[in-house]
Amino acid sequence: MTAPAAGGPPAGAGPTDTDWAAAVAAVRGLPATARVLLICHVNPDGDALGSMLGFGLGLRRLGVRQLQATFPGPPEVPEPFRWLPGSDLLVPQDDAYPDPDLVICFDAASESRLGDLVDRLDKAGTALVLDHHASNTGFGGIHLVDPHAAATSVVALGLLDRLGVTLDAEIAACLYVALSTDTGSFRFEATTPAVHELAARLLATGISPGEISRRIFDTRPFGAVRLFGEVVGRARLEPAAAAGHGLVWTYATREDLARHHQPAYVLEALIDSVRCTAEADVSCVVKQSGDAEWAVSLRSKGAVDVSRVAMALGGGGHRFAAGFTGWGTVDEVVERIRTELPGALLPT
Ligand code: AMP
Ligand code: MN
Ligand code: MN
Repeated sequence: MTAPAAGGPPAGAGPTDTDWAAAVAAVRGLPATARVLLICHVNPDGDALGSMLGFGLGLRRLGVRQLQATFPGPPEVPEPFRWLPGSDLLVPQDDAYPDPDLVICFDAASESRLGDLVDRLDKAGTALVLDHHASNTGFGGIHLVDPHAAATSVVALGLLDRLGVTLDAEIAACLYVALSTDTGSFRFEATTPAVHELAARLLATGISPGEISRRIFDTRPFGAVRLFGEVVGRARLEPAAAAGHGLVWTYATREDLARHHQPAYVLEALIDSVRCTAEADVSCVVKQSGDAEWAVSLRSKGAVDVSRVAMALGGGGHRFAAGFTGWGTVDEVVERIRTELPGALLPT
């Protein structure tokens, strides 16, 4: 468990009634001319985009007219999420209001996940943060951070409900994408009875879970299928790592992507083809993001708190799914992980 950030919420506690009331007041108190900017973390995933766009549609239903959504980095939305309702709210980060009246941040555990958009937090009249990472640093003004929520979309729906927004199929599609992504299609530990009740509410709007799952999990270009074959084929198993719980890892370079004519986002699904390894509790994919820069994904089956490994190396995340940015060679990055693993074992 991380220490509470100074001035931030105590670790482990969800939003209080005061936090919810402050968030509701921040939205309800907006004048008709207010400019509202929604932002989410870099390399946005289903939860970042789904909770942001679903909430944006809710704000639109409430009559907010000057409304934008954006994320740091190149403006291309990963193909599996391009159909999301509310995508017309998206603008490139350079076109986002420089000094919005209200900024709302989704699914980012720290300011470092906001790239160049971090200045909007300072320049905005009010900064509201919706998140579910235990490692959340307590940045921003109003915090709706619930480490027990399976996805940020759970927090987003909590706020939409309190604002009196009626759930419709468009909002539900966005929130369902977010919920099913972060629960690994309702397979992970975070899949509580409340998660299924929430999913039932979303499905009751008439959205199609089969079609949504096919689009976001089960569709990829043939080039990506071949690329995965190559990258999975070079995976290494280290049974002795993590005090004998085992580590499996692989890497993908920008050259690998270029050879198969694939965009970087296709590698996001790669961890799922590696973490099934029975002989390893911990799995890892090291994805090249710059000349000597790597985006690292870590997963655990329960013996290791990988968020501790990620935080020790400058990143963050959840107990069983975390990440960080590594520098140097692949071998140097993996060696740092190996070194951190024994200190991140969970009590049995
Ligand atoms: P990923 O492996 O990219 O799917 O990320 C798994 C989890 O780790 C997510 O909850 C991310 O928010 C978190 N995460 C990934 N990369 C970083 C990073 N560089 N810094 C902080 N958290 C990260
Ligand atoms: Mn995310
Ligand atoms: Mn999330």
